[in-house]
Amino acid sequence: MDFRHSEEQLAFYKSVFDFAAEKVEPGAHTRDIEGRFDHDLWAELGGFGLLGLPVPEQYGGSGADIITTCLALEALAEGGGDAGLGLSVGAHVTIGTVPIWLHGTEEQKQKYLPKLTTGEYIGAMAITEPEAGSDAASIKCRARRDGNEWVLSGSKIFITNGSIADTIIALAVTDPDAGPGQGISAFIVERDTLGFSVGRDLDKMGTRSSPLSLLHFDDCRVPHDSMLGDEGAALWAVAFECFDWERTVMIASSIGGMKASLSAAVAYAKERVAFGKPIAHQQVIQHKLADMKTQLDAARLLLYRAAWLKQEGLPHQTEASVAKLFVAEAAMRNAVEGTQIFGGYGYIKEYPIERSMRDAKLVSIGGGTSEIQKMIVARGLLEEQ
Ligand SMILES: Cc1cc2nc3c(=O)[nH]c(=O)nc-3n(C[C@H](O)[C@H](O)[C@H](O)COP(=O)(O)OP(=O)(O)OC[C@H]3O[C@@H](n4cnc5c(N)ncnc54)[C@H](O)[C@@H]3O)c2cc1C
Repeated sequence: MDFRHSEEQLAFYKSVFDFAAEKVEPGAHTRDIEGRFDHDLWAELGGFGLLGLPVPEQYGGSGADIITTCLALEALAEGGGDAGLGLSVGAHVTIGTVPIWLHGTEEQKQKYLPKLTTGEYIGAMAITEPEAGSDAASIKCRARRDGNEWVLSGSKIFITNGSIADTIIALAVTDPDAGPGQGISAFIVERDTLGFSVGRDLDKMGTRSSPLSLLHFDDCRVPHDSMLGDEGAALWAVAFECFDWERTVMIASSIGGMKASLSAAVAYAKERVAFGKPIAHQQVIQHKLADMKTQLDAARLLLYRAAWLKQEGLPHQTEASVAKLFVAEAAMRNAVEGTQIFGGYGYIKEYPIERSMRDAKLVSIGGGTSEIQKMIVARGLLEEQ
């Protein structure tokens, strides 16, 4: 068993880390305070090839494999320290763009992918509704056929990139009489479509540089050929696959965030003097650092195991949920301990560590809550025996 990344992958990691340290990190604090998405920075990410990572080069992407895509998201988070930007990039790539690559017709791919992969367009995926989150099968947003068009009615909530997206992949019920989880289809909705509107942006605890929005579809007419994938099959084919990308790829950002927090905590422990010596000399602080390192390494190994299984095309549903669950809980534990090492300074917004708890909390909610991951893991165990 070989746990090493290739020389090429390590060099790529370093190049993304350096790019993020130079371009992303300097404004991360201000963007968090202001809750502001930076379009210029987005264009730079596109220029660097980070917005179409796994998409084939023929559509403007970088053609990166799954592991390399994870490495890029991890390096962007570690070097840039902007979890909001990481969220916007992760959502844009894994749930706003990948579904078009994997399920789109050739015409849809030609039309949207070159713009999404270069960053000219921003992508979003809208599944969650005010009354349906974990239970995605019970969405109410309706699409009814009218000639060669579909008419969408309903609302979506908590949509990452919602207010800035050029394309929204929206799930809606096309056959209300089909069985549970059936009769749901996906549509690519362009932002200037009549009947589509952005409700408002939601003011968030963390990941604040990424917009989170309410979206409304009021008799929103889209052409039949905006349907993505097979009619009635989107919950299983498109949405669940998106959850899988979130659990095996997108959460690599959290690993990068954990690495940055640990480095900051180590540096601070060596520098901060209390009772005549650096706090790093106190065994209790050393144990906190050792615990953080152990959590980080375990989280990283679980994530890359799931990512590798996905890359190899092997079954990995349980492993993806184990990774998502562990990364989420470890990210929060490490953020709490890292903040504690900084004492009073950890509670002050000027220090990047202050963002870590606010940012980390999302990981146990978005992309399927920790409770849902436990349900999936338990189901896998019980079905196996
Ligand atoms: C910052 C952010 C970004 C997001 N981005 C997107 C996006 O881009 N697109 C999108 O479609 N959605 C997005 N979401 C929505 C996210 O996926 C949902 O919030 C999440 O799935 C939980 O759904 P809910 O909020 O409706 O909570 P609920 O499903 O109502 O759950 C409430 C609580 O009950 C628990 N619970 C529910 N069912 C069970 C069960 N069967 N067993 C045990 N416990 C259960 C949950 O774990 C949770 O603790 C985002 C959310 C946030 C906060």
